Amino acid sequence: MSKIKLYDTTLRDGAQGEGISYSVMDKIRIAQALDNLGIHFIEGGWPGSNPKDMEFYLKMAKIRLKSSQLVAFGSTRRPHSKANQDNNLKAILKSQATFVTIFGKTWDLHIRDVLKTTQDENINMIRDTVGFLVLKGKTVFYDAEHFFGAYKANAEYSLKCLLVAQEAGAKAVVLCDTNGGTLTSEVFKVIKEIRPEINIWLGIHCHNDADLAVANSIAAVQGGADMVQGTINGYGERCGNADLIPIIANLKLKLGIDCISDDKLKELAKVSYFVSEISNMRHQPSQPFVGDSAFAHKGGVHINAVMKNPQTYEHIDPKLVGNKRRILVSELAGKTGIIVRAKDLEFDLGKEDPKTKRILKLVQKLEHEGYHFEAAEGSFELLMQKAFKKYKKFFELEGFRVVIEKRSDKRITSEAIIKLRVKGAKEHTAADGDGPVNALDNALRKALKDFYPTLSKMHLTDFKVRVLDEKAGTAAKVRVLIQSQDEKDVWNTIGVSENIIEASWQALVDSVEYKLLKDKVA
Ligand SMILES: [Zn+2]
Repeated sequence: MSKIKLYDTTLRDGAQGEGISYSVMDKIRIAQALDNLGIHFIEGGWPGSNPKDMEFYLKMAKIRLKSSQLVAFGSTRRPHSKANQDNNLKAILKSQATFVTIFGKTWDLHIRDVLKTTQDENINMIRDTVGFLVLKGKTVFYDAEHFFGAYKANAEYSLKCLLVAQEAGAKAVVLCDTNGGTLTSEVFKVIKEIRPEINIWLGIHCHNDADLAVANSIAAVQGGADMVQGTINGYGERCGNADLIPIIANLKLKLGIDCISDDKLKELAKVSYFVSEISNMRHQPSQPFVGDSAFAHKGGVHINAVMKNPQTYEHIDPKLVGNKRRILVSELAGKTGIIVRAKDLEFDLGKEDPKTKRILKLVQKLEHEGYHFEAAEGSFELLMQKAFKKYKKFFELEGFRVVIEKRSDKRITSEAIIKLRVKGAKEHTAADGDGPVNALDNALRKALKDFYPTLSKMHLTDFKVRVLDEKAGTAAKVRVLIQSQDEKDVWNTIGVSENIIEASWQALVDSVEYKLLKDKVA
């Protein structure tokens, strides 16, 4: 095992993020993805707190993991009770996990005002709980909640709590910045001071309330910590936890710490997308290393330089983390941008090629009409396919009708009816939806699903409408941007028209065609 231990708590702390709710099956799929990535420890939940987490552990007990150890989470025993009679600890034993993380207090203020007990009793609680689990054959990590506040308030007592856990047989003590307010320099200083006192693993668990969780985790490693806790994509309560994705990339690529293999590092973007998909969260374009915009170049000067040498505007090679360079197409980027973008798509456009001029003109004309390809690389790729006559029609529209009905009981319904030809067959479908675009999307998928089954793997994640008022006096045009996602990628498509339904239809069709193109559907 590498010197630095990666500890993921997406399934426990991450699941506490607003808008996130995992089924047992979701948890199992995420755990398998983390195992495949080479994460050393996976905290799966709190078996004592809910039956769903217990079910997860019992199911996982039958699944073999290649590289990860499953960890159960719980708290120290209650004040003035016995560890062997504590229900939360009994549940941990029942979960069958051999690794256990116990969180407890180290801050005198919390002991007095929250636990309402004495400092001595808190020490007993740590000693008894860790000792009890060690006796039962468990490997125990002690999470010292609010450690940085505790250490500031009473250094001697908070350190004593860690030492008691160590003496009782814990394998690691973990310093938690539970409210996420500690500055990086303070984390580094505290780790440096604590490190010589501890002869077991020293861990760090940061929250992101001051937007410093990743920096604090890296600083902790530089200060001597050997276990880093975090969540995929930084999911977690309030502003989230430390994001393991940039932590792993920084440890590997900036500090040369071999926490996962080079091959697994190339799967980082994929895992980040996969977890966002299962979590039903939009993948953040600006997410460092793995976001869609992380290596997207827009300014003409930047594009020119990147063409000559990518290192001019890229801190790492995007391929190392499984991401890719994107050249955003816009009037700003000019001809170079289009050539580069085309090359990315394996269309070779020499600068003097008359085709280049034609395509450049076409892109500029469309942008003038209100298209915005920089935000819609899916539509751009289809445009190139068409320009190079490589475009293949997956279906042919014969017509559609959208009916919106407002009833006296104030309910409003939308229905779409579509007629199209696909692979020689005539399809005629109707579907309802929450609004006309959703109805149209549903009807289109319904018509195509038997012919193109992979369409069931994609869904729309964002829909934006913007009114364009470039030409005053005529009917205003609208621009519709649709973002779609599957388990691997996010892509954007665009439509422009004076009619919002028509603009939406263009973007919807591009989205579906792009998915089929990407999947190399014949
Ligand atoms: Zn936490």
